[in-house]
Parts: sequence; structure tokens; C-alpha cells
Amino acid sequence: MAKFVYDFTEGNKDLKDLLGGKGANLAEMTNLGLPVPPGFTITTEACRHYLAHGDLPEGLNDEIDAHLAALEERMGRRLGQADDPLLVSVRSGAKFSMPGMMDTVLNIGLNDESVHGLAKQAGGNERFAWDSYRRLIQMFGKTVLGVEGFEEALDELKGSRQDTDLTVDELRELVRTYKRLAPGFPSDPREQMRMAIMAVFDSWNSERAVLYRRQERIPADLGTAVNICSMVFGNCGDDSGTGVAFTRDPASGRQGVYGDYLSNAQGEDVVAGIRNTISLQELEELDKGAYDELMAIMATLENHYRDLCDIEFTVERGKLWMLQTRVGKRTAAAAFRIATQLVDQGLIDLDEALRRVNGDQLAQLMFPRFAKDADRKLVTKGMNASPGAAVGKAVFSSERAVELAAKGEDVILVRRETTPDDLSGMIAAKGILTSRGGKTSHAAVVARGMGKTCVCGAEELEVSISDKRFTGPDGVEVGEGDLISIDGSTGEVFLGEVPVVDSAVVEYFERGELSDELVTAVDRIMRHADSKRALGVRANADTPEDASRARRFGAEGIGLCRTEHMFLGDRRQLVEDLVLATDREERQAALDALEPLQQADFTGIFQAMEGLPVTIRLIDPPLHEFLPDIIDLSIKVAAGDATDKDRELLAAVKRLHEQNPMLGLRGVRLGLVIPGLFAMQVRAIAEAAKQVPGARAEIMIPLVGAVQELEAVREEAAKILSDAGVEALIGTMIEVPRAALTAGQIAEAAQFFSFGTNDLTQMTWGFSRDDVEAAFFSRYLELGIFGVSPFETLDRDGVGRLVRIAAEEGRKARPDLKLGICGEHGGDPDSVHFCHEVGLDYVSCSPFRIPVARLEAGRAALETGGSDTR
Ligand code: ADP
Ligand code: MG
Ligand code: MG
Repeated sequence: MAKFVYDFTEGNKDLKDLLGGKGANLAEMTNLGLPVPPGFTITTEACRHYLAHGDLPEGLNDEIDAHLAALEERMGRRLGQADDPLLVSVRSGAKFSMPGMMDTVLNIGLNDESVHGLAKQAGGNERFAWDSYRRLIQMFGKTVLGVEGFEEALDELKGSRQDTDLTVDELRELVRTYKRLAPGFPSDPREQMRMAIMAVFDSWNSERAVLYRRQERIPADLGTAVNICSMVFGNCGDDSGTGVAFTRDPASGRQGVYGDYLSNAQGEDVVAGIRNTISLQELEELDKGAYDELMAIMATLENHYRDLCDIEFTVERGKLWMLQTRVGKRTAAAAFRIATQLVDQGLIDLDEALRRVNGDQLAQLMFPRFAKDADRKLVTKGMNASPGAAVGKAVFSSERAVELAAKGEDVILVRRETTPDDLSGMIAAKGILTSRGGKTSHAAVVARGMGKTCVCGAEELEVSISDKRFTGPDGVEVGEGDLISIDGSTGEVFLGEVPVVDSAVVEYFERGELSDELVTAVDRIMRHADSKRALGVRANADTPEDASRARRFGAEGIGLCRTEHMFLGDRRQLVEDLVLATDREERQAALDALEPLQQADFTGIFQAMEGLPVTIRLIDPPLHEFLPDIIDLSIKVAAGDATDKDRELLAAVKRLHEQNPMLGLRGVRLGLVIPGLFAMQVRAIAEAAKQVPGARAEIMIPLVGAVQELEAVREEAAKILSDAGVEALIGTMIEVPRAALTAGQIAEAAQFFSFGTNDLTQMTWGFSRDDVEAAFFSRYLELGIFGVSPFETLDRDGVGRLVRIAAEEGRKARPDLKLGICGEHGGDPDSVHFCHEVGLDYVSCSPFRIPVARLEAGRAALETGGSDTR
């Protein structure tokens, strides 16, 4: 029979799929001999069964009973036993951490009788017992029964006092009030436990959990485990407390422990910002014994996991208990720094360091930062919780953040502290600013996870949610809609919009200077990635400036040089002449005028690339894209102030009008219909190549669907090249499904293929990007039809299949066929991995994505057991 329950002594850290991260790591710590309160874990499999069938799998209840009995035996107390109760927590815990997104209930087992037993256990400490009881009803009521109003009742009773100032009588009164609020609260301890388990299972599908998973791309079908853990108490006096800590600073990656501690408190108090926390250094003064043990345990954990760990712990009357650990989330900068620190400490090798960073993190490090020398009005400084430079209008509620962001406005979400209910607003905002809470607060943890800029704990700010404004030192006042700038790397908050400049990492790519530890870490890992990768990395660049920048970023060639921008600006006139030409001569005159301009464009690019290959795509878009707008022209003509040329143009625009321009007269079709057009471009390329010694041109014909199309233009091009005495490869884009399906034939006429995966995606799915993204993508994402937009990440099953077919059949027909990709996907981490797997020669992407592609190509090589292939 299936086993659904594991004692903490039975699991280990590698069983995250089954036991969730929390359960697996509680087991790991238990096995390491660390002080973990005993307990057991109900598997994710049980959860999946429950979610699919609406009831618990057969045998689960018996198994729970057996494990509970063993736990009771071991602890010498029964769950909720009136005179000497065992209390437990019922805790969610999925494979991937979802901070605060699901439910946990503490102090299960208390009722009107056992509350006295608990007081007796604590040496007659009634205050502690009643505090625990009110916490149980509050958490149970809110998460299991869905009742609101507890916090308000507590605030009302407290007034301006702190929760620790409440007397026994007041707490007893509070319990009565709470019970009135939550009449469904069961007094039977086993029933409490049963209902809490179901609630944790159900919380997997809570609105905020669903939203978080979508944001973080966590699969929706994993389910959560449930951990039943015997209670230890941080709320039984000043010699007790609860805390969270990191073995290194998760924001900067700086070496040395970091954490927050709150005495006489329980569970979430420390992250919820109800009272001001103290640092670990202050804990040392408060309780040296517990502190020393904590340090020793943190060192053990780092060495064991060989990584930054975050932990949750409780001190009960001087005794330290470990309640959670995991390999901690960190910022992008911290990820790079920590990885190389661990290499230097001999804990991991460079391969492992490369595995532990990713392209998204590198991209984040390339975001601009605020200019230091700009005229800036500093309001205050909070904690640098999650880096980045964010500018936007201040908003004071999640709803407003979502509303304005939907209109395309940049907003900064300002709150006293955030709760899981703020998730949608945090996603919508450019940055998050809170006046309470430390680096371990909800806002900080979630923002770091999302890579969103966050300044937290800016305590000088007085935030009024109801008035929609905050005030700061020197009478500064900021209301809804006022622009502010927040710097998540320094914690600074500025009035107005502060201008931004290149990040240190971009400067490093531009100039190669190793200015600080972060940049040095990036440099080491990039070098290692380059030494591992099999894929080449090229740039999509159309100008000498872009080409030069791309080279500084590491491009080994240009994979896509579009020629259409060369028909814009002043040259529109010439294109108009070309379209309006009524005979061969007029047409040739227009082309002759364009040729030297094109040639100069290519010369500049060849010079910038200094002998690296440059793939030039002949003109691709439909010609009417270069003509004036049909509506403008019609108005002009109707208004009677049009010239003859305007009238001619209008006629031409009407003639060229297409229902479906994406599927119209473009690409190779243009070359075949407008004599001399492609020839002019090829001549310009040949002449430019002659002028720049070492120039390596590759001529790419777009939108080919049949080998005959390619043959027809190829012949003419080859002749022009040989007449000019220039050698250049001639190849094609594979972007029409038919081309992919007949790649074997096409390869007979093509020296290289470059997958144009934007068009290939559009044509494979049968939708055009511009039309569908706004129209129905969000719905499709919601329905799970896509995990992610196929324009962002290459759709492996569909589009990817065509790529595989074309690569295989192309290479069969022509073994030395060069294969690359030049769509947006070339700079997308997952798609880069795909390209490596298919065995392409290179990816080509925009200059700013080149470092990302290099890094991911290196990581992809590690995954396939890559050796030093370059
Ligand atoms: P989350 O996943 O939201 O962090 P947890 O299950 O970790 O939820 O519970 C939150 C906090 O509750 C823990 O950090 C810990 O402080 C407290 N807690 C949970 N279980 C116990 C326990 N058995 N004894 C004491 N405190 C507990
Ligand atoms: Mg926790
Ligand atoms: Mg295309």
C-alpha cells in the first residue's frame, strides 16, 4: 500500500518532490542531529489525491493516527491532553518555496481545558497559555474558517500598547471575543488537526498561491505537503523568542550571518513587523548560549548544503530549536558573489558556480542604476532589500497599483508593510517601498524572489494608507500619483524622477574593468561559461554602433543584419520612386540611387566586425510599409491639397494594400517580383566586402518556402559575387513551416540555415504576434494553454519540432550546413538550452542579451555533460 506519511527521521533533503522543501529539510536537519522538534510529514502525493478527488486517500487517516500515536508516545503527552497537552503546528510546505502564500496553523491542541494544562507545563505561566490560545483561534479562524476581524479586535484591545503588554485577563477576554467571531472553531484537538490539514491542502489553490505560481512559473499540479510538528514556544517570556536568519546577506551576498530576532513572540510575528526586531548581534548580548549554538548550526548547514541557507528558529526559555531551513533565495548580485566565494572556500567548483547563476539574474545586473551625480532630492534611507532603480508614481494600495499599471503607468507600491494579499500589486509595480520590516520581511523576501526593486523599513516615513500619502523628514509629503525614485541597492528614496546610468556590470562589458567584487565574480563565471559552451553567440545588429557594442559584449559575429532600416528616413523618397516607377529605366534609376547608400551601410558594419562573419538579410517587409500612411494620404487627397505625386502614391498604396501583410508580398517573393531589387543589394554587399579587407559576408534570403524560390535568386546572386571576385555564403532563413518540412531539398541550395523563430512561431501557431498578445494571451496563460508566451520562450513541442526536423534533414543533405537562430528567442535562457540540445552552431540575439546567451550556452553545455569543446 502507498505510504503517505513520513516521520522526520525517515526523510531527507532529496525528497522535495514527495515531502516538499520544508519537510525534506526538516528531515535532513533531524538526521544531522540538529535540535528539531519531532514530527512527521504528509506527502504531496496525498495532497494531489485530495485535490483531484475531493477526499483523502484511503488509509491516510489511519497512517496519521499511527504517526501521531508514535509522536505522543515519544513526547510523553497526548495531543490536547487536558492536564498536560501536546501541541503541534500544521504547516504547509511545497517543493518550491512560496513564502507566506499557503497556510500554517500553530498551537493546535488547545481548548478551554488544555489551556490550563499548558499553563501548568510552563510553571503556571497563564499569560503564555492564553496568548497561545488566542493565537490558535486567530490563525485557525482566519486560515481554516476564513473569518476576518481578529486583528481589528486585537488592535482595539491593545490601543497603543504592544501585544506583550496584554494581561492574562485581557487575553482571556480576547479568546472569548475570538470565539464569538469564529463560532465554528472546534474544541476537539484531533478535529482541529484534521481541519487544518485540509485547509493546508486547499491553500494550494488559494488565489494568491495561484498568482504566485504563475508569476514564478511554478507548475500548478505539484501540490503541497503538510508538516505536523510538535510545538516549541517563543512566546513564554523574555528568555524566549523567534527569529529568521541567513548564513550570508541575501541582498548583497556579503559574507557573514544576517538575521532578525524578536523576543517573547511566536511564528510570523518576526516577519509581520508587529514590533521592532533586533539583530543577531544584539541576540548575542541577550542570550550568548543560544546565539553561540545558532552560529555553530549555521556553519554546519552552510557546509552541509554548500550554499547560503536561510533558517527559522525559536528559543524556548534559553533552548534553541530549528524550525526550518532551505537554500535561501538571493538577489542576482548575491548569487554571483556567493557562487565565487564558495569556489574560493573550496566548497564548490567553477562548474557548480556556473550552475548556480542564470541568465535572468545576469540580465537583472545589466539594468540601469541611478546617476550619482544627478541633482537628487533624498527623502530618506531604508533598507536595501532588493536591488534595482525604480521610478514611478506612488500608490498606496494594490488595487490602485494594478489599475494604473494596466494603463501602462509605472508605479511604486508604498505600504507600511506588505502581506500576501498585496501580491498582485507587487507584481504590477516597478518597485516596492515599505516603512516597516527588515530584510526578512514579507515585502523583502517576495521582492527578491521576483527580482523586483524593494526598499523596506524606511522608518522615518509615516505612511497613511487611508489618506493615500506618506510624510518624511523635513515636512516632505508625497501623495498618490507623485513621482518617486527608489534605489534597492542603497535603500535610498528620492523625490521625483532620478536619471539612470549604466550598471557596473554593463560598464564591465563595455570597458573590461574589474571595478568591484561583483564584477569580478561575473567576469570569472562568464569566462568559465565561454570555456564550456559549444554554441557560438552572434548579435542581431543593423548599424556599426550596435555591431561594436555587440562585440564588446562578446558577439562572435552578426547573425542578423536587417536591411530594411536602410530604406527609411531620407531614403523613403527613393523607395517611393522605386514603387512608382512605371518602366524598367525609372526603376533602375531608383535602385542605382539606393545602391551606394546601401554599400556605405555595409562597409561600416564590416569594419566594425573586423573579419567576423556578418549575415545580411535581403529586404524582408512588404514595400507598402515604406510608403506614407493610407489614411493620411486619403485625407490629403480628399482635402484637395494633394500634389500629383500624392495621388499617385495613394493609388500605389491602395494597389499594394494587403489583407494579411504578414502572409503577403514580402521576403523572397519581393525579390522575385521586383527585378533588380535583390541584385542591387547583393552588389552593394559585394562592393562593400571588396573595400574592407577580411570582410566575411553571408547573404541570407528571407521567407523561402520552396527550394525553387531560393534557386531562382541564388543564381543571380552567385553570378554577381563571382563577377566582383567576392566569396560569400548564400543561405536562407527557415521561418515558413514548409521550409522546415522540406529542409532536405532546401539545403541543396543553401550553405546555411538561420531559424527565424518569430515568423516560424507565428506561422506554426497561425497567429500574429501584434494581434494576439493583447487580445488573448493572458487568457491562454490563465488557462494553462501556454506556460509562457511562445514568442518569449521557444515552443519546444511545436515550433521546436520543426526546428529539429529542419536541422536533421538539412545536415543530412549537406553535412557542413551551418545552423543558427536569429529570432528573439536567441537571447532567452530556455530557448538557448534548446538550441544547444538540437546542436545548432550559434544563437543570435540583440546586443544586450549576448552576455545572457553566453552564460546560458555555458550552462546548457554542463547539462549535457559538455566538455571543453571550444
Ligand atoms: P511559512 O512557510 O509561511 O514560513 P511555517 O510553516 O514555516 O510557514 O511557519 C511559520 C512560522 O511558524 C515558523 O517560522 C515558526 O516560527 C513558527 N512555527 C511553525 N511550526 C512551529 C512549531 N512547531 N513550534 C514553534 N513555532 C513554529
Ligand atoms: Mg517558514
Ligand atoms: Mg521573418
